[in-house]
This record gives sequence, structure tokens and C-alpha cells, in this order.
Amino acid sequence: MSPQLAPALREAYTRMRRRNGHQHWWPGETPFEVCVGAILTQNTSWSNVERAIANLKAARVLAPRALYTLPPAQLAERLRPAGYFNVKARRLRAFLAVLVEDFGSELSRLLGGPLGEARARLLAIHGIGPETADSMLLYAGAQPTFVVDAYTKRIFARHGWCAPNATCEEVQGLCSASLDQRPAAGRLDYWQDYHAQLVMVGKDFCRPRQPRCEVCPLGPLLPPNGRPVSTPAQS
Ligand code: SF4
Repeated sequence: MSPQLAPALREAYTRMRRRNGHQHWWPGETPFEVCVGAILTQNTSWSNVERAIANLKAARVLAPRALYTLPPAQLAERLRPAGYFNVKARRLRAFLAVLVEDFGSELSRLLGGPLGEARARLLAIHGIGPETADSMLLYAGAQPTFVVDAYTKRIFARHGWCAPNATCEEVQGLCSASLDQRPAAGRLDYWQDYHAQLVMVGKDFCRPRQPRCEVCPLGPLLPPNGRPVSTPAQS
């Protein structure tokens, strides 16, 4: 790992935070709502997720057992605004089956304990990949894991902070090692907000084609060879 990486990543956060302010992620009133949102947000915008969650709240079923006992067709119908609603209903039910049947509906038990074990439990559930698992662990389980998504990989690759073909685990390892110097008490909030800031920059500036580097808060941190070319392979 380059010795310049840690200072660069800390500087990146300072610049994004100064531009956007603290993001107070994840949007959700309870840890369970955060987990539901993490499953529903796959391949759709957050506004669509909010509409699906509003449906669940209106039906008073946004709780583990109530959602698990909802007939699958009714669950899918209420998830319709989130898109791919049949697929997401199956994934949500797979998560609920483990939460309700194996962990007595206690989310703190499912997400708690040693990080590696909790992560492995989630990854073993149908439809939960690394990004979803890490989002649940970081924002609902208060576990120190860094969320790496397509935005993160694109931004990091364009700035030369990781190899263009780096895996999520490799980028996660770089972040964990570089941003771990803070006292543990502040690290959770720092990592939670760091990911939120990267999503903001990814959506607003670091588009797959024609990135808006001139007005991006990370523009001054681009490598000396200047503006990145479009990266369609990562879109
Ligand atoms: S838009 Fe440009 S400056 Fe901003 S993160 Fe992407 S590559 Fe970096």
C-alpha cells in the first residue's frame, strides 16, 4: 500500500464533508428498517425504496415477524415501487427466515459478535452480497466494516488509489488499513459518513462517462496526468 494513500483518503473525506456536510446515514428509523432498505435498494433509486417502505409502514408490517408471516404475494405487491419486486420479496423473505427462525427476530444477535462471523452469516443468505451485507453491518449493526460499491471503485480507480480491476475486498482492505488510525469511538461515524460522501460524489460528479471533475470536491486530488477518461467497463 502506498504511504501516500492514507493522507489522500483523509483529505478526500475532508473535502467531501466540507462540500456536503455530514450525511447522517443510513436513512431509516430503526436498524431493521435499515436492513430492509439495504435489500430493497439493489438496482433502484432510494426514492423508490422509500415508497416501498412507506407501503410496509402503512400496512403496519415493518417488523421481522409481521413481515415474515405476510403472504409472499402480498409482500411482493407492497414492494412493487422498488422494482424487481418478486426477486426482492424472495430475498427479503430469505433474510427474514434466518432472522426470525434462527435468531428469534433479534437483529442484534444476527449482526453482532465477531465481524467476520457476522459477515459470513449474512453472505450465506440468498440475495445478500458484500455491499448489502456491509451496509447492514455498518449502519444497522454498528460494526466497523467499510462499504464498497461501484461508486467507490470508480472514484478510487480514477484517482489511482486502487488498481482499475481491484476487487471490492481489495478496496475494502485499503480503506480499512488507511482510515483506521482514528480512535475506535469516532471510527464508526467516520466510516458511515465516508461511504455516504462517496455516494454523493459518485451520483453528482463521478459519472461513468463525462465526469464533472471541474466542479467536484475531489478534483484537486486527481493525479498529475489530469482528468480521467470515461470508464465504461465500471458503469
Ligand atoms: S468526478 Fe473527477 S474529481 Fe470527482 S471523483 Fe470523479 S474522477 Fe475524481
